[in-house]
Amino acid sequence: MEKIIVFIKQVPDTMEVRIDPETNRIIREGVPSIINPYDRYAMEAALRLKESFGSRAVVACMGPPQAEAALREAMSLGFDQAILLSSRDFAGSDTLATSYTLAALVRKLAPVDVVVCGREAMDGSTGQVGPEMAEHLGWPFLGFVSKVEELKEGRLRVNRMMEDHYEEIEGPLPLVMTVVKEIAEPRLPSLRGLLQAKKAQIQVWGREELEMEPARTGSAGSPTWVKRVWTPEHHTQGMKLTGEPEELVDRLYKELKGQNLL
Ligand SMILES: Cc1cc2nc3c(=O)[nH]c(=O)nc-3n(C[C@H](O)[C@H](O)[C@H](O)COP(=O)(O)OP(=O)(O)OC[C@H]3O[C@@H](n4cnc5c(N)ncnc54)[C@H](O)[C@@H]3O)c2cc1C
Repeated sequence: MEKIIVFIKQVPDTMEVRIDPETNRIIREGVPSIINPYDRYAMEAALRLKESFGSRAVVACMGPPQAEAALREAMSLGFDQAILLSSRDFAGSDTLATSYTLAALVRKLAPVDVVVCGREAMDGSTGQVGPEMAEHLGWPFLGFVSKVEELKEGRLRVNRMMEDHYEEIEGPLPLVMTVVKEIAEPRLPSLRGLLQAKKAQIQVWGREELEMEPARTGSAGSPTWVKRVWTPEHHTQGMKLTGEPEELVDRLYKELKGQNLL
């Protein structure tokens, strides 16, 4: 296994994502950003593959210029190269255009053996980018990987976590996989890593550096629009009971009984 690429997304550091009512896009101004939590597990999986096979590990992100901070943080963990795909041409990408752009980078960096993604991003949460990228590349896709078992005769065997069971599956390299939290505990950067990351070069590439059809990038290449985003209304009222535990148990019992909930 010579080269691994892990894709990380920068997402807003909040559970209360605010949406612009005009564009239905996330308001990122004034909200601090973090590396998508699932992508920390993807980075750990990539680094463990790098260490097991002596591979070169590349970390990449598509996003605005400030996403460089996410890549610099990633570099402190031990990656060999960081690439930021940032250009106005990529603005407004839906999952199809995003996965097309990321796949163009994979082709540019050929030969690549394994592409690792998180299972989903905390903001868009579609979980589509990994499998769509595999489709663009024509590569096998291993989803929800919870453990990498072994690489034998060019085939990678993994466990994947389903809702109520595990599956053992394998596929030939090159392939794309998405990982779940159970894959491995993400490492913290070393002091040396932090110092090296400060000086690390983050390459910034746009459409010119990649071989792409302009009509398939950014909003032009995005057949999906988010039409409306809203929070469901709560029709039931909550009730707060205060008092001593014994008395509360009694009152709670009567309340639930009175509402035919027992
Ligand atoms: C509220 C909301 C709803 C949306 N709904 C849709 C929708 O229904 N359909 C649609 O097509 N688009 C949708 N989008 C747009 C979507 O955010 C973008 O297409 C985004 O680039 C990728 O989709 P995702 O965030 O769902 O990623 P996922 O597919 O959930 O991400 C999976 C993994 O792919 C990798 N990845 C994803 N994006 C990037 C990136 N930019 N750079 C590097 N790695 C990346 C990461 O490893 C990540 O863990 C929505 C956006 C918002 C804000």
